[in-house]
Amino acid sequence: MSDTHDTGTFDADVAVIGLGAVGSSAAWRLAARGVDVLGFEQFEPGHDWGGSTGKTRLFRVACLEHPGLTPVARRARELWRELEASAGQPLFFETGGLIVGQPDSRIITGTIAAAEANGLRVERLEADEIASRFPAHARMNPGDVGLWDPEAGLLRPEAAIVAAVDAARGAGARVLTGTRVTAIEPDADGVTIRTDAAEYRVRHVAVTSGPWIGRFVPDLPLTPHRVVMTWFRARDGHDANVDVLPVFIRTVPGHDTWIWGHGAMPDQGFDAKVGPEFDGPFTPGDPDAIDRVVHPGETDGIRDLVAATFPDLDPEPSAVTTCIMTHTPDGLFVVGATEHPRVVVGGGCSGHSFKHASALGELVAQSVVGETAFTDASFMDPLRFSAAG
Ligand SMILES: Cc1cc2nc3c(=O)[nH]c(=O)nc-3n(C[C@H](O)[C@H](O)[C@H](O)COP(=O)(O)OP(=O)(O)OC[C@H]3O[C@@H](n4cnc5c(N)ncnc54)[C@H](O)[C@@H]3O)c2cc1C
Repeated sequence: MSDTHDTGTFDADVAVIGLGAVGSSAAWRLAARGVDVLGFEQFEPGHDWGGSTGKTRLFRVACLEHPGLTPVARRARELWRELEASAGQPLFFETGGLIVGQPDSRIITGTIAAAEANGLRVERLEADEIASRFPAHARMNPGDVGLWDPEAGLLRPEAAIVAAVDAARGAGARVLTGTRVTAIEPDADGVTIRTDAAEYRVRHVAVTSGPWIGRFVPDLPLTPHRVVMTWFRARDGHDANVDVLPVFIRTVPGHDTWIWGHGAMPDQGFDAKVGPEFDGPFTPGDPDAIDRVVHPGETDGIRDLVAATFPDLDPEPSAVTTCIMTHTPDGLFVVGATEHPRVVVGGGCSGHSFKHASALGELVAQSVVGETAFTDASFMDPLRFSAAG
């Protein structure tokens, strides 16, 4: 963070706009570096109104979306563990994870590519081994194979965000909750941050407002869209806890699609969760006007996929909720400097960023202070979508 043109007085070195998954960690990692941080959150940390609600998120280090994400996931795990220690409560459960699909499917080839590029201990399983080790997954398509990732697991998103905000505060950050930023105005010397009630002057701004990033950085090609999440209970006399149904991504017998999910953890208060592949095209939604009601018929599709795959699960959802996902055109995040040198962005979740969020917060912090990134993050460069990129 070099400031050869500073004039006047600043309210903080850095404003972080949006303390969700990425922003809470960005505030923490900045404050941990001794940076004077002012964080803004329009709701309360851990709320259920953005992209991070729903009790659980899958964690994997063999990231089929891009081999370069493995070092990000590893750093993220270190930071989640650090947050667990400071929060004094579990945030991450290492369950292991099973990928099941055709040998040439993206979920198999992408996972193998990440494992090979990063020397991961991912075990290949034939169909009979899958059926004997994981009877809950015994229904497969002919020719399906499996990959067992022992480092996969589950995160608790709401608690993790609260823990990161607490850690940020503990490291000296000032946090304004229930405070909606209405505008950011960067210029050569700093950035003016406006809320309904006040105006702040900061040297730099990190825009981590998730589905709302487009309000502040409209040139980024981000598509926020509504998704429905569904939970399922075991049929009477059957078991669908996470020890028999660890984290999974898998194809569906008789269908050309895949699903993801995990088993129940009664002590953590959730049933088994199963969701569909989100492959677009996506209908863009105004994050402030997303329909929060799950309407009759909306869960018929996932019900049929669950019925086709898991005989132990009652395919009628036991619980439903909505959430907002924000896709980029290439399904990878936007993390780093924008065209304005005082504006750094961290977001573009594309449905798989929570696991990385603590480390994405670190990358945001490193970008703001001008530190060398802990890993090559060029594939997440926000400028890749612009003419200059
Ligand atoms: C259904 C679903 C399933 C998913 N499954 C997985 C998974 O299994 N594994 C995985 O790794 N990822 C998963 N993801 C993705 C992951 O959950 C999201 O990518 C991630 O939580 C988004 O974090 P974020 O920080 O970008 O946004 P958010 O967490 O939404 O944070 C943005 C914050 O900014 C605040 N804000 C916005 N505007 C303003 C403003 N003007 N002023 C002040 N504050 C503001 C918001 O209130 C919010 O708190 C899933 C996503 C969805 C929707």
